[in-house]
Amino acid sequence: ASSSLRELLLSRIRDVPDYPKPGVMFKDITPLLADPAAFGALTDALASLCVRLEADKVVGLEARGFILAAPAAAKAQIGFVPVRKAGKLPGSTLRQGYELEYGTAEIEVHSDAFAPGDRVLVIDDVLATGGTAEASLDLVRRAGAEVAGVAVLMELGFLAGRTRLAPALAGAPLEAL
Ligand code: AMP
Repeated sequence: ASSSLRELLLSRIRDVPDYPKPGVMFKDITPLLADPAAFGALTDALASLCVRLEADKVVGLEARGFILAAPAAAKAQIGFVPVRKAGKLPGSTLRQGYELEYGTAEIEVHSDAFAPGDRVLVIDDVLATGGTAEASLDLVRRAGAEVAGVAVLMELGFLAGRTRLAPALAGAPLEAL
């Protein structure tokens, strides 16, 4: 992202200490969403990325990924696909488990969400350990699509999510705006 876009986006992200538990600095994007200039600029940047990466579909990761991915998909005039926490999608699904700091989680996508060979851009708000994004790339491939890239608003570099994600990216770009 250009330095002026970065400054605008950073100025609209609120750090909330010790949420949801002690020691975590939560990156709250609600001020950004409430500012049409910032949210519009972010949507434009994500839509441009869809075009540059020749994406056919945009995946949003529940829940804040939905908010960023859906308008970008609409603006880029390509389809939006939700990747949800297990048990929320009504149709036939593929399910992928992954490790959390404490315990495990599962995400799902509709089995028929992609056409064979669709190029998919995965979008979320924050890349932390990279576990969620990694599982989503496995799901995308299992559903018969190709990974065009991953885009996040923020990357928490000290958690080394980029390193964890590298094998699953298999050369596709990780863009942190
Ligand atoms: P991870 O799987 O560890 O990369 O975690 C990524 C998911 O957790 C994303 O969907 C984020 O929305 C959320 N997340 C993790 N850490 C934070 C944080 N410090 N602030 C806001 N969201 C976070």
